[in-house]
Amino acid sequence: MFRISQYMKTLYRPTPVRAAASPTGPVVIWNLIRRCNLTCRHCYSISADVDFPGELNTEQVFSVMDDLKQFRVPVLILSGGEPLLRPDIFAIGQRAKALGFYVGLSSNGTLITEENIGQIAATGFDYVGISIDGLKQTHDRFRQMPGGFDAALRGVRLCKEAGIKVGLRFTLTRDNAAELPALLDIMDEHDVDKFYLSHLNYAGRGKRSRKRDAFHQMTREAIELLFTRCWSDITNGRERDYVTGNNDADGPLLLQWTRKHLPEQAETLEQRLVNWGGNASGVNIANIDNTGIVHPDTYWWDHNLGNVKETPFSTLWRETDDALMQGFRQKPRPVKGRCGQCRYLAICGGNTRTRAFTTTGDPWAEDPGCYLSDDEIGVMHSPVPETIALQQV
Ligand code: SF4
Repeated sequence: MFRISQYMKTLYRPTPVRAAASPTGPVVIWNLIRRCNLTCRHCYSISADVDFPGELNTEQVFSVMDDLKQFRVPVLILSGGEPLLRPDIFAIGQRAKALGFYVGLSSNGTLITEENIGQIAATGFDYVGISIDGLKQTHDRFRQMPGGFDAALRGVRLCKEAGIKVGLRFTLTRDNAAELPALLDIMDEHDVDKFYLSHLNYAGRGKRSRKRDAFHQMTREAIELLFTRCWSDITNGRERDYVTGNNDADGPLLLQWTRKHLPEQAETLEQRLVNWGGNASGVNIANIDNTGIVHPDTYWWDHNLGNVKETPFSTLWRETDDALMQGFRQKPRPVKGRCGQCRYLAICGGNTRTRAFTTTGDPWAEDPGCYLSDDEIGVMHSPVPETIALQQV
């Protein structure tokens, strides 16, 4: 996850560069349930409105949570499927808060209603992220639910009225990129606290639609638009978060933006970005799926590190001899091609390995989702990655 606002705030009001944070446990994204009332085209968990077998019961969830706490996991993102379909979601949320986690709820928003908003507020979620895929027509088509857009925005409004920090989660594709400016305007209208742009990754339904992934130039323009909006908010005193995920080349792009607009700050920003280090799959990010299987992150659902029903998460995470995990934990990661030669590897960390794996079968191949040019990354010349060729047909 790349926190644009956090870095841009330091450009506006410079602060000393903090040393790289000492390691705690990873942020855990926990898909508590696979059932969902929607069937979105880009869903990585390929959910459906049916019960899936083998999911953890309340007691098992509580027991895993105790282990996560003693392992110093700081943040739980409770996700799905649609987590509000779990009858015990509020009990789980309350327990997580009582244990001291920062707790986020990741929802499609359509099940947040006048009836349950009081319970959602009382649970004490630190943040509710609601998925929006475009304007009304696009969103309802992506989500395959007429009225889904209005229902999601009702969820946003209810959260705001209840005093809950709320964000929009937007997955960028070629089909919805043109609507990004209007969505940012909607964010303004509804006084939304956070905008999370997720780059499309090739997993779940996203894999089947990779030819429709955003062109690199379009991706870059979208991120530059976020930079512009974020900087405008900061300089106008508006408190709001802009965050991106699944493309760590956004870090080097911000450095280039800074070299152009605030050159005197570039060296300090570069040090902050190196301390961040880019992609955190398998290190600072972990995923537990609905059946208790642990994965390096949410896009590695084919990669099984063991099940929390049989072995504590802390043991699976700490004692793994899994080759992919060993690679994630190397510094620098053993990436090849453009990533291996890139001048920004220490910032980006080699980006998103699922994209490399899905397109080449090699998890350490260069990331075809990188939109920076050879000149920018300091590489003399490389052939056009297969994905770009696919996108251009
Ligand atoms: S070439 Fe690879 S390491 Fe360099 S910025 Fe792009 S994705 Fe990151």
